[in-house]
Amino acid sequence: MPSAHRPTLAVFKFASCDGCQLTLLDAEDELLTLAGQVDVAYFLEASSRAVEGVYDLALVEGSITTAADAARIQEVRQRSRYLVTIGACATAGGIQALRNWANHAEFLSAVYARPDYLDSLATSTPISDHVAVDYELRGCPINKVQLLEVLRAFLHGIRPRLPDEAVCGDCKRRGTVCIWVARGVPCVGPVTHAGCGAICPAYERGCYGCYGPTGQPNVVALSEHLAASGVRLAEVQRALRNFNGYAPEFREASERLVDG
Ligand code: SF4
Ligand code: SF4
Repeated sequence: MPSAHRPTLAVFKFASCDGCQLTLLDAEDELLTLAGQVDVAYFLEASSRAVEGVYDLALVEGSITTAADAARIQEVRQRSRYLVTIGACATAGGIQALRNWANHAEFLSAVYARPDYLDSLATSTPISDHVAVDYELRGCPINKVQLLEVLRAFLHGIRPRLPDEAVCGDCKRRGTVCIWVARGVPCVGPVTHAGCGAICPAYERGCYGCYGPTGQPNVVALSEHLAASGVRLAEVQRALRNFNGYAPEFREASERLVDG
């Protein structure tokens, strides 16, 4: 990112749990180096300093769930040279997108005594549904090393170099025996983006896709194969409808299971 001044970094939050912003704060040792390379102009999770203006790089966490946020993301986009979305909420609508398949009004009246005070939209949608996005970093939460690579790349004006491979690759690297093949445990690791180091299979649990779809995943074939091996359709659907359930690849495959 060629610039005569230290590039400005802004971090914005929409509907989310803040976990992806915390990943940046959790960078600890690297954070000091980063702080010397950028001017953190807006990051309310970390500082009350809020510089107005155009930012060189904006990180956006969270999904769009209110009319006010749908308007605010337009303003954020106008004030950001590069806009990178971080985490499952920002890239796929998050766990709150499960309501996209349900009756929003019923949820409101079941949970809140006075739902008339709420202005939430009937859907939770990723940032890319609203504005142009320069890069999407997946994960719930994101991986610190991957985030630092994205920051490094944008600060140098190049594309991030992140392997677009599946969790299965990490299983092989850490020597984990495939629990699906060996024990028949349902696992969506073959279509899930790597980033966690294949934690769940290492503890004998199937991956449930919290890093979202990897590049060109054949989710339909995987879900049909799971169903053909005796896994109940509802279980396959549950495996796909998690933090990234509304990512197009997971959504289409899970809806296909419902529709038969
Ligand atoms: S356990 Fe899951 S992620 Fe690991 S190799 Fe088997 S299918 Fe892939
Ligand atoms: S659910 Fe999948 S992607 Fe998430 S931590 Fe477990 S193995 Fe990794």
